[in-house]
Amino acid sequence: MPEEQSFHMTSEEFRRYGRAMVDWIADYYERIESFPVLSQAQPGQIRASLPAQPPRQGEDFETMLQDVAELILPGVTHWQSPNFFAFFPANASGPAILGELLSAGLGVQGMLWATSPACTELETHVLDWLVDMLDLPAKFKSDSAGGGVIQDTASSASLCALLAGRERATSYASNERGCDGRLVAYASTQTHSSVEKAAKIAGIGRQNLRAIEVDEHFAMKPGALARQIQTDRAAGMTPCFVCATVGTTSSNAIDPVAEIGHICRQEGLWLHVDAAMSGTAALCPEFRHIHAGLELADSYCFNPHKWMFTNFDCDCFYVADRAALIQTLSILPEYLRNKATESGAVIDYRDWHIQLGRRFRALKLWFVIRHYGVEGLRHHVRRHVELAQNFARWVQQADGFELAAPAPLNLVCFRHVGGDEINRQLLERLNASGNLYLTHTSLGGRYTLRLCVGQTHTQARHVEEAWKQIQEAAAELESGMPKHLDN
Ligand SMILES: *Cc1c(COP(=O)(O)O)cnc(C)c1O
Repeated sequence: MPEEQSFHMTSEEFRRYGRAMVDWIADYYERIESFPVLSQAQPGQIRASLPAQPPRQGEDFETMLQDVAELILPGVTHWQSPNFFAFFPANASGPAILGELLSAGLGVQGMLWATSPACTELETHVLDWLVDMLDLPAKFKSDSAGGGVIQDTASSASLCALLAGRERATSYASNERGCDGRLVAYASTQTHSSVEKAAKIAGIGRQNLRAIEVDEHFAMKPGALARQIQTDRAAGMTPCFVCATVGTTSSNAIDPVAEIGHICRQEGLWLHVDAAMSGTAALCPEFRHIHAGLELADSYCFNPHKWMFTNFDCDCFYVADRAALIQTLSILPEYLRNKATESGAVIDYRDWHIQLGRRFRALKLWFVIRHYGVEGLRHHVRRHVELAQNFARWVQQADGFELAAPAPLNLVCFRHVGGDEINRQLLERLNASGNLYLTHTSLGGRYTLRLCVGQTHTQARHVEEAWKQIQEAAAELESGMPKHLDN
């Protein structure tokens, strides 16, 4: 029998190009500081350089790699650059990238325990490890009534938490009959926008998501929350869910979880705690105060894909009562029925999130934890916090600058004292230089710059250089700017 015709990459080619790809990535990291951190591409520029039609015949892998360098890299913002201080980090590491590769190589779908037992059991195990590593409440462990699951993002975790809170508040009737327009959810004015999106998706409605006011440090005011709940109850509404944040996106504010938790207990509301970036800090005992009150939460999430050296996507989502989550999301069509599920002895993660199919994401987390060890992870998290704290001190000591909010961990919100316009120009000038990337926010109605330290390879010299450039750019603007434009 002659061999069947095939266009597949041979095993020999895969070995060769696979090695070349890994080499390419290693080279990329070695020269990453030579690229402008923020892509300087114009809208449409990258597409214009691509062929209008797909190739009819297959092409060489070498050609593709060459095109990556020539056509794609100019349109890449270098998130893994040590000079990336924008938004929040999305840090990656060698063990995480290799874990991701292995996951792609195995190519399993872990929707049910039965569709790949290791995919489920490694995930359960690593998420239990993380409860110990972050010293989270024991109720989030799988040997209690709760447990953890990897979600794609914190956005999905918030949505699942909101859905479970909605169902619990209506004795699972909303799932059957739909929402009645009376359900109300609560978050602060500083809560991540994903909660607003979740309120839309969950049928709560944006108008029924109350934005609770914050104090002078941008943390939710528990008194205002309690009053709003009373107002809503008096109006015949059904309060169901509160989202508290540990480390808000805008300024790293930490909501008073304990006080909020007591209110939720009293009122029977689901409390979700969103610690997307800052949760990672709890690896270090000295930062665990950020989680004070977490024992009162119904659910919690943090993103190893932000600050724990695990490439996107990887959000760890924990619930205290897995039955509530599963009852909210469970579906069992005939084609998914199997013995293991029916025995009740296994976890089927498809009932813990929105989608059915799931990747083997625990591998990269497992590799990261084993490569660094708890001590290695702590070392780098501590170092990031220390570098950010140094930066905050320089800002405080400098004449023309001020801190715009407390900087409890690795994010520093600051501004030039000369008003919004000079800060806007400062940001533009710095980012156009390509030497670093910062982003902004608005705090108390004032334009504010943010510097977040969390990239895997960011060291003291990078933060020192960033501060030097900020000062130089500010000096140029100060000298060139007429006084009357300063506010
Ligand atoms: C970044 C962030 C999110 C969104 O994270 P995704 O994983 O991208 O959905 C949610 N909440 C907070 C507090 C964040 O900082």
